[in-house]
Amino acid sequence: MSDFELNRRGLIGAGLIGATMVGLAACDKATLAPGVSKADFAGAIKAMRGVVGDEWVFGDPEAVTPWKKNYIPDPEGRHVPVGAVAPKTVEEVQEIVRIANKYRQPIWPVSTGKNMGYGMATPATPGQIVLDLKRMNRILDVDPELGTALVEPGVTYQQLKDYLEENNIPLWIDVPTVGPIASPVGNTLERGVGYTPYGEHFTFQCGMEVVLPDGQVMRTGMGSIKGTTAWQAFKWGYGPYVDGLFTQSNFGIVTKMGMWLMPKPPVYKPFMIRHDDMADVPKIIEAMRPLRVSSLVANCNLMMSASYQLAMFKRRNEIVPDGRPLDDASVKKAAKANGLGMWNTYFALYGTEQTVAAIEPIIRAQLTASGGEVMTAAEMEGNPWFHHHATLMQGGLNLDEIGLLRWRGAGGGLAWFAPVAAAKGKEAEAQTKLARGILDKHGFDYTAAYAIGWRDLHHIIALLYDKSDREQEKKADACYRELVSTFGENGWASYRTGVNSMALVAEQYGQVNRDFNKLLKNAIDPNGVIAPGKSGIV
Ligand SMILES: Cc1cc2nc3c(=O)[nH]c(=O)nc-3n(C[C@H](O)[C@H](O)[C@H](O)COP(=O)(O)OP(=O)(O)OC[C@H]3O[C@@H](n4cnc5c(N)ncnc54)[C@H](O)[C@@H]3O)c2cc1C
Repeated sequence: MSDFELNRRGLIGAGLIGATMVGLAACDKATLAPGVSKADFAGAIKAMRGVVGDEWVFGDPEAVTPWKKNYIPDPEGRHVPVGAVAPKTVEEVQEIVRIANKYRQPIWPVSTGKNMGYGMATPATPGQIVLDLKRMNRILDVDPELGTALVEPGVTYQQLKDYLEENNIPLWIDVPTVGPIASPVGNTLERGVGYTPYGEHFTFQCGMEVVLPDGQVMRTGMGSIKGTTAWQAFKWGYGPYVDGLFTQSNFGIVTKMGMWLMPKPPVYKPFMIRHDDMADVPKIIEAMRPLRVSSLVANCNLMMSASYQLAMFKRRNEIVPDGRPLDDASVKKAAKANGLGMWNTYFALYGTEQTVAAIEPIIRAQLTASGGEVMTAAEMEGNPWFHHHATLMQGGLNLDEIGLLRWRGAGGGLAWFAPVAAAKGKEAEAQTKLARGILDKHGFDYTAAYAIGWRDLHHIIALLYDKSDREQEKKADACYRELVSTFGENGWASYRTGVNSMALVAEQYGQVNRDFNKLLKNAIDPNGVIAPGKSGIV
């Protein structure tokens, strides 16, 4: 069985493909990219078959189905790929890029294609062929002394974790919440986050290999030095630092990526701080910020609203009857019954017996003064939410949060809205108020969390809807656009967005920035074949 088939079956098992098929059928109208004729497309498909073999090129609508599913609102069916191709080697990627240039056929690279809630493997504009790198899945190197790894794009977090365990290497990985099926390369290129002290993934990336749009291969950092032993040890190399250009962009295809791995600490102690009121937002942020800025708390905290937490394991109609707004009193009651507060903030201490014992009282004093109840494994034994976060914060893997897709109906609709703010209580308070107002107006719930970074907040709002309901999908689309626009007017733009809103968010970052990106794009990829529309760059 192919890994695609396996992967498909895995998702069917999780009830996800079935859930989204309803939405797919209605919006399945793949069209060719502007300027690409049927003959060009057919020529590109034929030439790609010559490179990777017939079985790894998918050119008719039915065969492309696994790459079409996505959870974001797409009422007009714009984000539908016309094909998929799955190379195994860097040389094959180079050939595919040359073919794309010859036929002017755009290709959309993905690593494992699990960009769930941002578009999965689907492209930003119609008519693209997904360049699926899942078959390039070798772990090329792990250096236990330096704590570094070099991986191909198709390597999953699960694979890397298994490798470390099987080889008895005492290093941790850092995972996003959907780690088992996602990839370090795809996640890092999106500048995604996880929850150990190595959670800011791009910060812990070191060295890349990139196939450029003209088919040449470039290595960044120390990677182009013959005989170097420092490709995964020293990030900056010499001259302009370019790795960032290949994140959230369409300037090249990353075929190898270096990353740093955290040494397993002797002591790991997870905490949850329970606050009982929605209005406690500013208190929590003001209490956490000094701990984060000083690195007394070293990992990215997740401050989870009760409604987000409930949506992981419950269905909405277990909390309020269908058709009724999700009121705070009902949420509070359900949260309390499950050992949760209205806000639940998770972090951990990592170190030795002595360092953890020294820091714990400082943290306890600070958070108790904010009105929070400090909970540890001793008090939260057997609580599935605590268990979930305690697993994540040590780089452990589970798919608990996939439950969000079942919160509302059977249709599996989810779009992440992720505006950034400075880590200040007043800002978070204002963002929460604004988000709740817009979501309420459109009939959706505030299922949200704050990821407290070092000095920033990622306000992570899960817009959950039923994708099998066409009217609800349209409403979700309108709601999402209003969130982006209104937050933008208040100085808050997203750190990352779905394929359905890339141009909208790029608008907010200004004309000069857009022109600069366009200048680079024209110079690097004059035929515009790599992922047109990514981050609003065409
Ligand atoms: C319930 C839930 C929880 C989630 N939790 C988190 C979380 O905690 N943290 C987080 O960051 N995300 C989270 N996500 C979002 C998302 O699922 C993850 O970020 C996931 O890692 C992205 O999928 P992927 O790794 O398969 O990347 P891919 O889908 O393979 O790649 C993402 C994008 O990066 C670009 N890209 C990928 N590979 C390449 C390449 N080799 N060369 C050039 N460009 C490339 C493409 O534009 C692609 O569309 C969550 C999603 C859900 C549904």
